[in-house]
Amino acid sequence: MIELKNVSKTYFSKANGSDTGAVHALKNADLYIPKGTIHGVIGLSGAGKSTLIRCVNLLERPTEGSVTVNGQEMTRLNAQELNRARHRIGMIFQHFNLLTTRNVFDNIALPLELMGRSKKAIRERVLPLLELVGLSDKTHQFPAQLSGGQKQRVAIARALASEPAVLLCDEATSALDPQTTGSILELLRDINHTLGITILLITHEMEVVKSICHRVSLISDGELVEDAVVGDFFTSP
Ligand code: ADP
Ligand code: ADP
Repeated sequence: MIELKNVSKTYFSKANGSDTGAVHALKNADLYIPKGTIHGVIGLSGAGKSTLIRCVNLLERPTEGSVTVNGQEMTRLNAQELNRARHRIGMIFQHFNLLTTRNVFDNIALPLELMGRSKKAIRERVLPLLELVGLSDKTHQFPAQLSGGQKQRVAIARALASEPAVLLCDEATSALDPQTTGSILELLRDINHTLGITILLITHEMEVVKSICHRVSLISDGELVEDAVVGDFFTSP
C-alpha cells in the first residue's frame, strides 16, 4: 500500500546565487492506494506528477506531510532504514535508465549485487525474471541491441529483482509506440495480477489509465483534484 497524507513539495530555485522564488510543485496531496491495486495519476506536463511519484520513495523529500509505504512511514526512516525500505519499492522510467556497459542479465542482477547476494542466488532470481518478461533469449545482449519495448522489459525485471511490494512507473510507456505500449501495459497488468504488486503510475496519456488502472487521480497545478474508479472518472460530466 501507499499512503500520502497532506504531502507538499516546494522547490526553492536559485539563479545567479539569488532567490528566484518558490515553486509549489505539490500542494497538500492526500492519496491512499490499497495493496494489490493499480492507481494512475494523470496530468499535463508540469502538473507535478514526477514530484508526486518521487516523493513516494523519497527521491524527493516532501517539504511537509507523511508518506507511508508497505506500512512504513518513509518520512521517518534514517538513511539505512530508507535504503532497506527502497528494496521493497521498484521503479521504472520513461527512458529506461539501463546501464549501457552491462548486458541484460547484469542489468537485472545489479540491485541484487548491491544487496550482497551470492552469484548463485542472483542466477536463481534473474533467470525466472528473464522468463517473466519474455527475454530469455536476450540474456547476453546489450541495451543498444534492444528495441525500446525490450529495454523497458529489462527495466521491469530489474525493478522486480529485489521482490518489491510496490512498483512506481514514471511515464513508463511515453517513449514507446502504441503497440509496444500495449504489450508493456499487459505485462504490468500480469505482474499486478500474479504477484499482487501494488502499482502507482503517472502518465499524460488517457489510454494508459483507461486500459490498466483500477483507480485514477487527476493532478493539476500541484493539486490532486479527483480520485475515482476508472469507469466513474470517464463517464462523469
Ligand atoms: P510533471 O511530472 O507533471 O511534468 P514535475 O513534478 O516535473 O511535473 O514539475 C512540477 C513543477 O515543479 C514544475 O513547475 C517544474 O518546473 C517544477 N520543478 C520540478 N522539479 C524541480 C526542481 N528540481 N527545481 C525546481 N523546480 C522544479
Ligand atoms: P542489506 O543488503 O540491505 O543490508 P541484507 O542482505 O544484509 O540487506 O539482509 C538483511 C536482512 O534484511 C535479511 O533478513 C534479509 O532477508 C532482509 N532483506 C534484505 N533485502 C530485503 C528486501 N528487499 N526485502 C525484504 N527484506 C530484505
